[in-house]
Amino acid sequence: EGGIERHQYDVIVIGAGGSGLRAAIAAHDSGAKVAVVCKSLLGKAHTVMAEGGAAAAMGNLYPEDNWQVHFRDTMRGGKMLNNWRMAQLHAQEAPERVMELEDWGALFDRTADGLISQRDFGGHRYARLAHIGDRTGLEMIRTLQQRLVALGIDVYMECTVTDLLKAPTDSGADRIAGAFGYWRETGRFIVFETPAVVLATGGFGKAWKVTSNSWEYTGDGHALALRAGATLINMECVQFHPTGMVWPPSVKGLLVTESVRGDGGVLKNSEGERFMFNHIPEYFRAETADTIEEADRWYEDKKNNRRPPELLPRDEVARAINAEVKAGRGTPHGGVYLDIASRRTPEFIKKRLPSMYHQFKELADVDITKEPMEIGPTCHYAMGGVEVDPETEMSVVPGLYSVGECSGGMHGSNRLGGNSLSDLIVFGKRAGDAAAAYAASNGIPSVSEDDVEQAKRSALAPFELEGGENPYAIQSDLQQTMQDLVGIIREGAELEEAISRIETFKQRIAQMTVEGHRQYNPGWHLAIDLRNMLLVSEAVAKAALARQESRGGHTRNDFPGPDPEWGRKNLVVSLDAEGTGVDLREQALPEMPDDLKKFFEE
Ligand code: FAD
Repeated sequence: EGGIERHQYDVIVIGAGGSGLRAAIAAHDSGAKVAVVCKSLLGKAHTVMAEGGAAAAMGNLYPEDNWQVHFRDTMRGGKMLNNWRMAQLHAQEAPERVMELEDWGALFDRTADGLISQRDFGGHRYARLAHIGDRTGLEMIRTLQQRLVALGIDVYMECTVTDLLKAPTDSGADRIAGAFGYWRETGRFIVFETPAVVLATGGFGKAWKVTSNSWEYTGDGHALALRAGATLINMECVQFHPTGMVWPPSVKGLLVTESVRGDGGVLKNSEGERFMFNHIPEYFRAETADTIEEADRWYEDKKNNRRPPELLPRDEVARAINAEVKAGRGTPHGGVYLDIASRRTPEFIKKRLPSMYHQFKELADVDITKEPMEIGPTCHYAMGGVEVDPETEMSVVPGLYSVGECSGGMHGSNRLGGNSLSDLIVFGKRAGDAAAAYAASNGIPSVSEDDVEQAKRSALAPFELEGGENPYAIQSDLQQTMQDLVGIIREGAELEEAISRIETFKQRIAQMTVEGHRQYNPGWHLAIDLRNMLLVSEAVAKAALARQESRGGHTRNDFPGPDPEWGRKNLVVSLDAEGTGVDLREQALPEMPDDLKKFFEE
């Protein structure tokens, strides 16, 4: 190979989902020379799959709505483990960021008065999700991409970043100096020299067997951050969405949007019972309808009625479904029924939920305007991610930023639906602004050639051995382990078993073999991603074992309730001394100021 291709930028954004695109636009607007790098084609990021909408307290349908109510809902949804300042900034700035998308050409659905329409979702007191039918993410990506292209921002697509590069500073703490990666098609290496990297790589749901996530979500950003010396928080908290398809097997896990319930759909067990009324937790009792009559009235009159229990936060609904199936009241394919056919007209369903209509018709041969759907929980969202400063989204590594699903803190132990899309644009803008300012005052450092060599060796390692296992077998065993032992309901002994299996996967990975050469070689791509997936899985399993309580997206059979002591602290994950696993430490949550505390005094 000749010399490695090299480029210099003020800011490199890794990831072309909503958060990465918004960050790149902000950094460009702040005067930085920016590039976006993404491992799939532009437009294929996870964000494009988002259906329901973006939560923002615009008050278009309910003038009573405001940032304070949104802030309170978000904190309660996350069972108070959220970083309060992130939750506050998010609630305050989301409306402005949504309006800005409209200015840039996004065509939101409208209210009768011509305002941006807002739809109901679980855990939100008022109808709050700005949406475009059930294809909101598509419109968000389309709008941001169009702007990115119009601004002339460079895009490197089908290009995977495998290592971050660093340089020493006078103060002792190494800062970001660049990123190392390869073109997926040719297998050729590429180096970006830059003082500022924004990680916007999304989640890691592909570590579970049943998941709504696509092949890309292997936790690359989480692992890159750890290896660069940054810390992760909330890793034990994983969101299992209550409604994924369960049949046919080829689509098991594929998401069924929460909008089905927001628009009137109800959950029933095999006995035809609307079972959610039997699963209302004490914490949400005061704000949840306890009769079918009140629940049904709520859709028309939200002021005088309480929300149906089908719209409790996702962790509650997923656990309830799990319990019904376990008790023998599941459907033939091991789920429960989601019924909108008996509750809304076919016209209404086709207008509000066009993608769901087609998804079931084409993939399962089910007409959702006539029959109920069969659904069950599916791994969906990572609350855990890089620990960042709430104002700038910078990690503890100078020059390393993180946004979107790749960062932690904002959603605490459980994210409310719709709060991710708004999170992407609020913190995407903040990170882009901050990274550009940082780059302007810090200049481009030089990368060490030894580090580049090391990154190259590590990427090529899977070609070195012959006769070893292929990465697909190891990935499949890892997914099964996370599914069985680190799933919705966890237990100490099972988590210990998971951690010990992860140790054996490490040995298997060290012996793995990839056939063929570097031109488009999916086995090699997986081999590289698998290392990240495994490191992140270890972080989840160890944090889940350490947190001896149940809270949000972390449920322990052996510690069934929340513990006020644990409610005051985070588990912070960092790379261990050998650089092959993770360490944990406890850290107190930042103290919420009194003027915000008052929202939680009942
Ligand atoms: P993503 O959109 O996930 O993009 C990640 C980017 O990083 C991609 O471009 C990828 O190629 C790139 N990348 C990853 N690793 C590398 C690497 N090593 N090198 C280079 N590039 C890399 N949230 C809501 O708020 N409302 C909804 O209605 C909603 N519906 C959803 C429906 C589905 C089916 C799913 C799966 C999720 C939904 N979510 C929803 C969640 C939300 O869509 C995601 O959390 C969000 O889109 C994540 O955006 P992101 O910018 O963090 O990253």
